[in-house]
Amino acid sequence: MDQLNSSGPLAEDAFSWLEVDRRRCNRCGICVDMCPMDVLHFGAQGHPYMRYRDDCWYCDVCVFVCPRQAITMKELPYLIR
Ligand code: SF4
Ligand code: SF4
Repeated sequence: MDQLNSSGPLAEDAFSWLEVDRRRCNRCGICVDMCPMDVLHFGAQGHPYMRYRDDCWYCDVCVFVCPRQAITMKELPYLIR
């Protein structure tokens, strides 16, 4: 689904407002599968990260579907506050 993304892929250590608690994350991939914008991809250790950050809709689907409560949204960019 990369053709849906408006910006290029970002490195795993790029800034994003999604925080994944790696002690909780079991790498199940549900958040990656459920993100409606295909923002999330697996990093080198199998944990999700925002590869296409600029396409995030802040819908919080990833937060709600995580069975381990491993995802939190950090402070959102000023434009949508
Ligand atoms: S907030 Fe929504 S669009 Fe953004 S990464 Fe999570 S599921 Fe995807
Ligand atoms: S849904 Fe939660 S536990 Fe599963 S890969 Fe995503 S962050 Fe990790």
